[in-house]
Amino acid sequence: MNAVPVFACNPGPITGDGNWTWFIPGEVPTLIDAGTGERAHLDGVHEALAGAALRQVLVTHGHVDHASGAPALRERFGVTRFLKWPWPDRDTKWPVEWQPLGDGDRVQAGDVDLAAIHTPGHAPDHLCFWHEASRTVFCGDLAIKGTSVWIPARLGGNLAAYLASLERIAALEPARMLPAHGPVIDDPVPLLRDYVHHRLEREDQIIAALRAGATTPEEVVARVYRGLRVSLVPLAVESVTAHLLKLQQEKRAQVHDRAWNMIDP
Ligand SMILES: [Zn+2]
Repeated sequence: MNAVPVFACNPGPITGDGNWTWFIPGEVPTLIDAGTGERAHLDGVHEALAGAALRQVLVTHGHVDHASGAPALRERFGVTRFLKWPWPDRDTKWPVEWQPLGDGDRVQAGDVDLAAIHTPGHAPDHLCFWHEASRTVFCGDLAIKGTSVWIPARLGGNLAAYLASLERIAALEPARMLPAHGPVIDDPVPLLRDYVHHRLEREDQIIAALRAGATTPEEVVARVYRGLRVSLVPLAVESVTAHLLKLQQEKRAQVHDRAWNMIDP
C-alpha cells in the first residue's frame, strides 16, 4: 500500500508542528483526515492527486484539526463522500454529509481494503484504519512519538477507554503506524506498551497523592507535577481529572463537593 503524507500546514499551540494527512492513490483515491482547510494543504492534496479525482475522505475523529477542513475539500475537489464514526453533537460543526463508519467496517482506499477500528479515549469517535497485509495502522491521535496524548476529560475523553484502545491496537502487532502528528512510528508495539506503562505509573502517583491528603485535581497536580510551568497547569489538571474519573469508574475513588478520596478496600 502506498500512503503519501500531505502536510496540513496548521502549526499551533495544540497541533505542534501541524497535522499530517495521508493520501492513498489508486482506484479509489482517498485522503485520511481532512486538515483545517488551509490553502497550502489543499494545494498539497492537488499535487498528490496528480490529476486523479479525490473520491473520499476518511476522518479519524471530530477534533478541529482533523475534521474542519471537510467543507473546503468538498469545495475544491467536489468530493462528497466523508466517512467517520458518528459524534452527533460535534459533526454538525463541519457541514458536510458525514456517512457513518462502524467498528470493523471495511472501506476500499486506493487499491486496498482498510478496516475501521473504534479506538475511543482521546475522543469518543476515534477510529484507526488498519491495513492487514502491510500491518499498517493509520492511527490518528492514538499515539504521537516523543510525547503523550491529551485525554480531554470534559470533551468526551476517557482514560480507561484509551488504555483499552492502546491494548487493542498493540494486540494487532502492527509493523508501523502513520500518525496525524509527529514522525512515522516504525516500531509501534513497544511504544504502545510504554504508553500504558506510563499511565499506570502516573495513576500510582495520583493514588499516593490522594492518600497523602490531596483532594482536588489542582492539589494532586501540585504534588505529582513538581516544578511544572504555570502555563501547563491546566493541561495537567485535565489529565489528572481523566485519571480520577477512571478511578471513579472503577469504584476505587469517589468525589463529594469537589473533594476526592480513595475508597479503601
Ligand atoms: Zn485529536
